[in-house]
Amino acid sequence: MARTLVKGLGLVFSGEIAAPRLDADALLIEDGRIAGIGRASEFAGEGAVIDARGCAVMPGLIDNHVHPAFGDWTPRQNQLGWIEAMVHGGTTTLVSAGEVHLPGRPRDPVGVKALAIAAQRCFAAFRPMGARVIAGAPVPERGMTQADYDEMGAAGVTLMGEIGLGTVRDRDEVVEAAAMARKAGLTSMIHCGGPSIAGSNLMQREVVIAADADIVAHINGGPTSLPAAELTKVIEGTSRAIEVVHNGNPRNAIHAMNVLREMGRLDRLVIGTDSPAGSGVQPLGVMRTISLLCSLGGLDPGIAIAAAGGNTARFRKIQAGRIAIGAAADLVFLDAPIGGAGTDAAEAFAFGELPGIGMVLVDGEVRTARSRNTPPAARIPEVAA
Ligand SMILES: [Zn+2]
Repeated sequence: MARTLVKGLGLVFSGEIAAPRLDADALLIEDGRIAGIGRASEFAGEGAVIDARGCAVMPGLIDNHVHPAFGDWTPRQNQLGWIEAMVHGGTTTLVSAGEVHLPGRPRDPVGVKALAIAAQRCFAAFRPMGARVIAGAPVPERGMTQADYDEMGAAGVTLMGEIGLGTVRDRDEVVEAAAMARKAGLTSMIHCGGPSIAGSNLMQREVVIAADADIVAHINGGPTSLPAAELTKVIEGTSRAIEVVHNGNPRNAIHAMNVLREMGRLDRLVIGTDSPAGSGVQPLGVMRTISLLCSLGGLDPGIAIAAAGGNTARFRKIQAGRIAIGAAADLVFLDAPIGGAGTDAAEAFAFGELPGIGMVLVDGEVRTARSRNTPPAARIPEVAA
């Protein structure tokens, strides 16, 4: 059995909104999963040792909104290695909102199905630096039937791409598409706001609410947001997840978070980057969004991390984003950046900084030491034995 003790931890962020910080200074990893949370003295035994040297740990973050093509390449920005760059930003699970940037993507039902199944298969077998890309998200197009969704669900497709990126855009057909996806076991999301660079439609409040998709995508715009007063009505009009994205309107990201906070429903908040986009790929996009919500919105860093962790995992029905017994040992070690105002990762987020990442593990394996993309962390873990 592969066994690793992580000791010397400072803050431990669980990724769970119910208890965002854990009282522990050590974690035990066995065969890629978290097997113990507590004190180092409880976990004596053989195996590797990582000494966190007082830095914080959080679960590998989930980016709920990416648009992959194939491989670690995005044609939108003609950029290679963007997924690996994300791992260097603490994001270890990426969820497709549709493979819409694939050059010449098919729009007929047979082609949509074939692409979804191929994308799901390819990314299940391709994990750059260990990153999990949950792909194969068919964009709803006119002519697709319940049998089409059932066939994809039976073939292993678990998601539907954003409703509104394709030809399905009117109220009744949007409602029907979300219902067909749900019946087939696919989680769904709906584009919200103005048209995107990928050629989507303007999706207004009434249609977004009626769709009842599992996730309202980019409530703060992808990138063009509905007016703030409309966001409030969307959030109040559904009981589903509300996504804020980095590639959206930052002012309205804070507005949406505040509405959820006042409702006592921060468990509905999820975070994505919506990258690649016209603004590019942001390897630190999820952390930057956390920093935005904490510094200008006053959100507790533990809750912000949970939004990009357990909240997303719950709505997406995926196993990631949590530090809990039995969970995959996806761990991000982070600390205040050298020269910043805070003394730990939580203060760094609260002051609007980007914490430095000193190490990332996926499935219990060290995937990177000091991040190539964050500023240097004040405290960096070391592999001690
Ligand atoms: Zn969108």
